[in-house]
Amino acid sequence: IERTFSIVKPNAVAKNVIGAIYARFESAGLKIVAAKMLQLTRAQAEGFYAEHQGKPFFDGLVGFMISGPVVVQVLEGEDAVRRNREIMGATNPANALAGTLRSDYADSLTENAVHGSDAVESAAREIAYFFSEDEIC
Ligand code: ATP
Ligand code: MG
Repeated sequence: IERTFSIVKPNAVAKNVIGAIYARFESAGLKIVAAKMLQLTRAQAEGFYAEHQGKPFFDGLVGFMISGPVVVQVLEGEDAVRRNREIMGATNPANALAGTLRSDYADSLTENAVHGSDAVESAAREIAYFFSEDEIC
């Protein structure tokens, strides 16, 4: 059984769709095995997105991610990484298929409602960035 890491980003928290997004995870067979709401610090957001440091959208991305609370969660299920990416839809909501989370809840390419790990290796790193093993059920 596989785990992935997910963030409900500040724009989705602000529009009151945490529960709607969690229902999509559950309908897709992804079990929420850890969860918490937090206000990221700038250092936390910069560390999380370190792979994008130096890119033109980095400062805007970090500014957005600290603009309000986020909800972080660990999702567990068969093929969890790929399955979560599928229900999220494309990074750019203009390209996201109808019925995906980003199609329904993104406001722009930066404010695209959710994050999901892109591989099993990044999932393990991202889970460890926010959760200790005893916080995962
Ligand atoms: P995420 O990592 O958030 O799940 P992703 O893997 O689909 O999304 P990445 O390429 O890792 O996309 O980019 C991380 C985030 O940075 C995107 O989700 C989006 O919020 C923002 N982003 C990516 N590319 C751009 C861009 N060209 N302009 C503005 N924001 C961008
Ligand atoms: Mg990514």
